[in-house]
Amino acid sequence: MTQPKPPETSPKTFLGVEQARSAILAAIAPIVGWERVAVRSALGRVLAQDVIAPCNVPAHDNSAMDGYAVRAADLAASGDTTLTVVGTAFAGRPFSGIVGAGQAIRIMTGAAIPEGADTIVVQEVTRVENKQVIIPPGQRALQNLRRAGEDLALGGTALAAGRRCGPAELGLIASLGIAEVTVYRRLRVAFFSTGDEIASIGRPLAPGEVYDSNRYTLFGALQHLGCELIDMGVIADDPAALEAAFDDASRAADVIITSGGVSVGEADFIREMMRRMGEVAFWKLAIKPGRPMAFGRIGKAVLFGLPGNPVAVLVTFYQFVQDALLKLMGVTPLPPAELFEASCTEPIRKQAGRCEYLRGRLSREDGQVHVSPAAAQGSGILRSMSEADCFIVLPEECTGVQTGERVLVQPFHGLV
Ligand code: AMP
Ligand code: MG
Repeated sequence: MTQPKPPETSPKTFLGVEQARSAILAAIAPIVGWERVAVRSALGRVLAQDVIAPCNVPAHDNSAMDGYAVRAADLAASGDTTLTVVGTAFAGRPFSGIVGAGQAIRIMTGAAIPEGADTIVVQEVTRVENKQVIIPPGQRALQNLRRAGEDLALGGTALAAGRRCGPAELGLIASLGIAEVTVYRRLRVAFFSTGDEIASIGRPLAPGEVYDSNRYTLFGALQHLGCELIDMGVIADDPAALEAAFDDASRAADVIITSGGVSVGEADFIREMMRRMGEVAFWKLAIKPGRPMAFGRIGKAVLFGLPGNPVAVLVTFYQFVQDALLKLMGVTPLPPAELFEASCTEPIRKQAGRCEYLRGRLSREDGQVHVSPAAAQGSGILRSMSEADCFIVLPEECTGVQTGERVLVQPFHGLV
């Protein structure tokens, strides 16, 4: 990447991406409110209490292999050992006797280790003659056992509060025999689009109108996070309508997300109104797309006033809003996802001053990761988001990229 220019950074009025991110996170705290839900309903939800193991998993020592359960003390250091097979243990059907000196039992994967035995010899290395099993040297004492509690120990914290439940967590909770868990209530998010030119789908466009797409991208992103959604439709650039919408939203929701109406050229009353109704700051971010953004509170609700351009909505949502929503949902923050490097297949023109999030597609060739920027990078061109699988992140100081130069990429996988 082109070397950073000396500290001629962005003008003071422009807030850096990292500064904005940490200012937002510092200004918010997780919601209060819990509910008990059945395991299946915990998918995507955030644990509000630690899950403490009420039992060991596995519940008993058991065999990791099909083979023979033996006493390590019986095994000869060199030469074969011959033991008498006195029974069989199946998973779910234990051998109830004791394995005595000179004895072994046939054992299946998952079967409980019977009293007396302490080592499993895999079937493949043994020979059976009459009721005797012949075991070659070279076995290790205690091999091929799964220990009681080796996955989850009785009384231990199996999952800590703040963990969002995915498929593995559901299985883990079920493996403890737990039927219900305590999760944070869903985060209530009200959202609406603003603009006189914005038309809802379902009717023909009048001249100069644009179909509302932001409400659908936001719906998708918010639904994906498991929020409770309050879709407030399209609100015209009309002071009374906007005031009523902000008022309703701030009573009903924990978070309000709007799009449009925050850029400088806007009908100024939207900014004035947000300011008057709450504590809202208007940020000029050193980011492209998505320079203007409002952040603050109206009543008890946290407000994100996103820009209107469809790509800018998604960029600002993923770079600023998503982590904030996760924090509000009670999720314990994870370390920020690592960006990785890829070799850029095309030159990119850029001026220093703003961090740019271009849309790109990753590929792999000759063991190298390459990234191709989407052809059309306009902030209104949603197709670039739809066809991309990553952001190409060019830092503020970058002044352009040449073909083959290494750039940072943020894959959509896990992000969107
Ligand atoms: P604004 O930030 O309100 O000045 O809007 C910037 C650009 O985004 C304008 O071209 C708007 O028409 C467009 N835009 C704003 N809101 C939406 C929306 N909900 N759906 C599609 N385009 C929009
Ligand atoms: Mg507008």
